[in-house]
Amino acid sequence: MAAEIYYDDDADLSIVQGRTVAVLGYGSQGHAHALSLRDSGVNVRVGLPEGSASRAKAEAEGLRVVTPFQAAAEADLIMVLVPDHVQRSVYAESIEPNLQDGNALLFSHGFNIRFGYIEPPAGVDVAMVAPKGPGHLVRREFSKGRGVPCLVAVNQDHSGGAQALALSYAKAIGGTRAGVIKTTFAEETETDLFGEQAILCGGISALVTMGFETLTGAGYQPEIAYFECLHEVKLIVDLMYEGGIAKQRWSVSDTAEYGDYTSGQKIVDDHVRASMGAVLTAIQDGSWAATFIADQDAGAPDFKARRAAAEGHPIEATGRELRALMRWVSFDDDYTGTASR
Ligand code: NAD
Ligand code: MG
Ligand code: MG
Ligand code: MG
Ligand code: MG
Repeated sequence: MAAEIYYDDDADLSIVQGRTVAVLGYGSQGHAHALSLRDSGVNVRVGLPEGSASRAKAEAEGLRVVTPFQAAAEADLIMVLVPDHVQRSVYAESIEPNLQDGNALLFSHGFNIRFGYIEPPAGVDVAMVAPKGPGHLVRREFSKGRGVPCLVAVNQDHSGGAQALALSYAKAIGGTRAGVIKTTFAEETETDLFGEQAILCGGISALVTMGFETLTGAGYQPEIAYFECLHEVKLIVDLMYEGGIAKQRWSVSDTAEYGDYTSGQKIVDDHVRASMGAVLTAIQDGSWAATFIADQDAGAPDFKARRAAAEGHPIEATGRELRALMRWVSFDDDYTGTASR
């Protein structure tokens, strides 16, 4: 089944220009959406709690900042860009009391709708505009006259115009310049969680860490292990990004390419396939989401313990030492350690 892809000509910017928009949150996605909506001639205000550190940044850009409750009260289109695990409480406290028939509720990730943590009333449109890139790239591309591809989905079409509205919103943040793919809340949510758990965040981090442990456990120097198992990942991923796995294999030595074929499937074997299936099942049946939300509701003890343990792994100390030697790359070691959070 080929994907349905929409471009600028398929979207009518005047639809979102005719709405009163609230962007709740001003983080990675929120700043990009709010600024690009404004630059596209949309009437937008940002909703942030009193005392939020993001307030000064939004105000410095000339955006009007009010509380999430006030923003939701003024708006007829509300884009929810607060962290997924706080959306449920922001919805209950600030959005639900202000929802009126004909309003539209938008998300950039389907988590809370897919798993039933937010259940909007029947009289509103519920849709998704999800850029397939971090917010800073979304904003940068928009400013250059380009865009980052987005996903759009409609979960509830009260007005009959929910998809046209989502496409209009996507156009206002540059998405239709690149291409917008139609999906569903279930597909976006389940594949997004699977990707980050099995490959992008969980899979790669675990693979790198186990490789580092295997080499250092066999007596090799941690610095050498770090280069081979972590640092060079970027070189390989850049090649895959540019030209698929095929370009990576074309670029590396024949020695490396033959090693890829002979050993890759011994490492990531049928046991890993079964484990990926189990991870996907726990996403689909909602049990992973329930575990995440229960921990967050309890003050995130499991999340914090895992974060602290991971930050204490020797691979991080080795990395800090080695990155200091590589001055030609602007590494950001503010990201290491808890001080930045
Ligand atoms: P973020 O953590 O970067 O920013 C969250 C913002 O919400 C901050 O401005 C914070 O001050 C604000 N906030 C926190 N608690 C709040 C509250 N109670 N009331 C109002 N504001 C509050 O978040 P993000 O990464 O931009 O994620 C937002 C949404 O976008 C999520 O649904 C996420 O899954 C989705 N998304 C993110 C990315 C990404 O690259 N970061 C990509 C696609 C989709
Ligand atoms: Mg995600
Ligand atoms: Mg090598
Ligand atoms: Mg080759
Ligand atoms: Mg984080």
